[in-house]
Amino acid sequence: MQQLASDIAVLKFGGTSVGDLKRLTQAAMRVRRQVDLGRKVIVIVSAMAGETNRLAERARSFGIAFDAREYDAVVASGENVTAGLLALALQGMNVPARSWQGWQVPVHTCSAHGAARIIDIGVENLTARFSDGMKVAVVAGFQGVGDDNRITTLGRGGSDLSAVAFAARFGSNKCFIYTDVDGVYTADPRIVPRARKLDRIAYDEMLELAALGAKVLQARSVELAMQYKVPVHVLSSFSDSSGTLVCEEDQTMELRTISGIAHSRDEAKVTIVSVADRPGIAASIFGALALRNINVDMIIQNVSESGRTDITFSCPVEEVDTAEHALRTIRDDGILNFEALLHDREVCKISVVGIGMRSQSGVAARMFTALADEGINIQVISTSEIKISVLVNRRYLELAVQTLHEKFGLDRVPDCDHQQQPA
Ligand code: ASP
Ligand code: MG
Repeated sequence: MQQLASDIAVLKFGGTSVGDLKRLTQAAMRVRRQVDLGRKVIVIVSAMAGETNRLAERARSFGIAFDAREYDAVVASGENVTAGLLALALQGMNVPARSWQGWQVPVHTCSAHGAARIIDIGVENLTARFSDGMKVAVVAGFQGVGDDNRITTLGRGGSDLSAVAFAARFGSNKCFIYTDVDGVYTADPRIVPRARKLDRIAYDEMLELAALGAKVLQARSVELAMQYKVPVHVLSSFSDSSGTLVCEEDQTMELRTISGIAHSRDEAKVTIVSVADRPGIAASIFGALALRNINVDMIIQNVSESGRTDITFSCPVEEVDTAEHALRTIRDDGILNFEALLHDREVCKISVVGIGMRSQSGVAARMFTALADEGINIQVISTSEIKISVLVNRRYLELAVQTLHEKFGLDRVPDCDHQQQPA
C-alpha cells in the first residue's frame, strides 16, 4: 500500500460510542472539533453496539452451510446504517459530511469472505471530494469489496483495521480510536482494581496483549499499525482523558520489564496419548486441526519412551469437540494411531508481556515463584521474546492475575512514566 502525506485526522468510533442517537451526536461533536481545528476528517464507524451479533445470528439462522458472500452482505450492513446516521448528524451541525460504503471508496480486499485482507484503498474519490469542500468522509468500517466485486468483511473487530488502514494510506499521524475504555491498562481493571492506564505502549507489546485477549484493539490492526508506523491513540468516547498511545518503542519504555498482564478465560487443553515418535506425526495432527480452523495455541511434546510420546495442545474451549472429532477421523482413516484423547476444559491462560524482557533475565523465575507461592500449579508454559504464558486451572484466574500484577510492581508508577508527556 502506497502512503500519501496529509493533515487528515482519522477518527474511529466503536459500537458503544455510536450505540444510540445521543452517543452518535456526541461522536459528531468530537468530529466537529477536529473540523474546527482546520482538519479534514475521515471517520470510521462500527455498527451500533450489538448490531453485528444480531445480523450474524440472523444470517446463520438459515443453516451453517451458508454462502459467505451473502453472510458478508448482511453483516456489513450494520456499519452502513451508522455511517449514514453520523453523516446526517454532522450535516445537522452544518458540517459538510457524507457517508461512504467500502465499495464506494473503494476499499479493495481479497475475496476471503468473513476474514478479508485489505489490498489497497483508492484515494482519488475521497481526495476529489475533499477538494470540492467535503470536510468529513464517514466511512463504514469493517467492510470492503472483493476482487469478485462482492461485499467483504474484515473479521470481527475489523473496523479498527479499517481505521489504521485509512491512516496508513492517507499518511495521517492522527489516528484516534474512540472506545468505551480510556486506554490500555496494565491488567483488566475488573480483576485488578489497582491496574493503571499506560500512557504509551509499544506496538509489539500491544500486539501480544491483543492476541492474548485484551479486547481494546483488534490484533490485526496493531500489526498493520506496526508495519506502516501509524501511531494509534486509544481514547475514551466518554471522557477527555489522555488515553494510550500505541507507538514505536522508545528507551523509556525499556526501563520497565513488564508492561501488562493479559488473560484469556476460556481455554482448553487436549492431550493425545501415545502417538508414534517419528517424522510426519505432528504434521498430520496439526494439519488436520488446521483444516478445521482450530486455533491451536500452545503445544508440548513429551520425551518419548519406546518410540511413543504424548502431545498436548491448547485451543479455545468451544473448539475442543471439533478438534477431537478431527483427530478421531484421521485415526479412523489410518493416518494417526493413538491410545486415548484427554481434555481439560477448565483452564485459562495468564501471560506477562513486556519488551523489557528482551534485556532482563529472570522474569520467568519471578513469575513461576509468584504462582508457586500461591499454590497455583502451572500446566503448560510457552514463551516468546517479550511474553511468557502459562495455562493454569480457571479457578485461579483472578488470583494469578492479581498476584503477578503486584509481584511485578505494575500498580506503581515507574519513574520513566513520570517523565513522559501523555500523548
Ligand atoms: N461491527 C464489527 C464487529 O462487531 C466490526 C467492529 O465493530 O469493529 O465485529
Ligand atoms: Mg472493537
